Amino acid sequence: MAEDTPSVPVHCPDCETTTRVAMADVADAIERHNDQLHDGEDVARVDPDVAEQLADLVAEDLGLFEE
Ligand SMILES: [Zn+2]
Repeated sequence: MAEDTPSVPVHCPDCETTTRVAMADVADAIERHNDQLHDGEDVARVDPDVAEQLADLVAEDLGLFEE
């Protein structure tokens, strides 16, 4: 039942870690990580390949490409 929560991989090249985070928590998780470990620098981020797919999904969801 909990399986339908989508998770996305957050990659941090500095820490060499990839963490899967629920999509709803990604922004918070990235902010917290960068805040605590990298003085607020934009180091950790969603895996670029996945980010692209997500952007497509979200854009479709919001109808952003239907100008
Ligand atoms: Zn890090």
